[in-house]
Amino acid sequence: MNVSDSERVATSLAAEGLELVEDELSADLVLINTCSVREKAEQKLYTRVGEVKLREGTKPVIGVMGCVAQLEGETLFKKINGIDFVLGTRAVGRVNEAIRKVLSDGPGYADLGEREADYDWSVADAQRHSRSVAFVPIIEGCNKFCTYCIVPFSRGRETSLPASEIIRQVLELKRNGVKEVHLIGQNVNSYRPLTESGLEGFKGSSPFSRLLRAVAATGIERIKFNTSFPRDFNADIVEAIEENENLCNWVHLPVQSGSNKVLKDMRRLHTVESYKKKIDRIKASPRNIALTTDIIVGFPGETIEDFEQTMGLFEYSEYATAYIFKYSPRPDTPAYAMRDDVSPEEKTRRFLELERVQKQLQAKHLEGYIGRTVSVLAEKRSAKSPSDLSGHSTCHRVVNFPGSDGMLGSIVDVRITQAKANSLYGEVV
Ligand code: SAH
Ligand code: SF4
Repeated sequence: MNVSDSERVATSLAAEGLELVEDELSADLVLINTCSVREKAEQKLYTRVGEVKLREGTKPVIGVMGCVAQLEGETLFKKINGIDFVLGTRAVGRVNEAIRKVLSDGPGYADLGEREADYDWSVADAQRHSRSVAFVPIIEGCNKFCTYCIVPFSRGRETSLPASEIIRQVLELKRNGVKEVHLIGQNVNSYRPLTESGLEGFKGSSPFSRLLRAVAATGIERIKFNTSFPRDFNADIVEAIEENENLCNWVHLPVQSGSNKVLKDMRRLHTVESYKKKIDRIKASPRNIALTTDIIVGFPGETIEDFEQTMGLFEYSEYATAYIFKYSPRPDTPAYAMRDDVSPEEKTRRFLELERVQKQLQAKHLEGYIGRTVSVLAEKRSAKSPSDLSGHSTCHRVVNFPGSDGMLGSIVDVRITQAKANSLYGEVV
């Protein structure tokens, strides 16, 4: 989400004549995009602003956007010296206005307002992180209020984009040579637009599965989507994937814990049993869909038994990849008032234990690819080995292989010869 926000802001800045520079030291404007889901985001921001201020020559205009900007607002001017403007998560469309205000009236400008009705969600080709892959936001905000999470406070309520606008963007991206779109949002499958526009004629048991079929019908080569909220994940989503080759073989379904007691305290709105039913359906699909997840270890009150249930769920689910996080208390969330009773050492122990289990499962998963041929979108030259290209399979695995520049941006068949720790290696067939 943050990469996508940065791309859209870069698009607005470019429209005003500002160019992105490689070297921060020569920048006239430094815009810091912040995330406060975990870690000491404010401290990081403080350090970052300090680094920018220390540079020699004229001081650039410093702006802060993202979650910290939204949550802290004008108090940031008092807390951190040197910030010129603050832009809330839904105010990014007015970045140029903020810069103009600072240039005319001096520092201290904050905009935490709502998104303008005619906000342009598209990204200019030149500002995309990749030539062949593009992010398309379909829903913003979150209504779920999981007890540990800051996102509903920093990103506001769920608002879905009209399907007609999403389709328009996908068609334009396709025309411009993009091969893979990622439909993104905190909970994509909670998609609920105010209008039918763009969904007419597409069947499905939820607006999201209808949207998937509508986007598939654009004929773009690959469609991925994330994140899916387990409660709102239904079998029809798997059916839509089975009906459409261009809906990719990957579902990211964050479970957060394998204990019903912890899930209830987290207010996740699913149980281990309901979650297992959904993944059973995903795993039964002939499409061989890769399943990935997010997990929090050391949530308040998580006992050894609860943690062991999480380990058991990992064995059951055989995740292709899992993002494991240590619980981090976020001020103003309901969990912040709960006693953070798992010690930092114990959180680390559980983290490492789960990581060990996951590494074994992942190794087994990756080894299963050896000898198989997978289709890979050649996205870029590998950073580690310049003679290799790097890309993703439809199941979202990183695959590296020897290749020429001419292959960049195309989808090639790669026969897998080696499984590395986090990626696959092979040769074009
Ligand atoms: N909307 C998605 C992801 C939200 S944030 C979802 O519902 O799953 C991405 C991940 O950060 C979450 O899935 C969760 O695992 C992690 N996370 C969020 N808040 C956290 C916190 N306070 N401490 C540790 N991890 C957290
Ligand atoms: Fe946070 Fe829960 Fe919303 Fe995900 S669903 S963004 S974890 S509140």
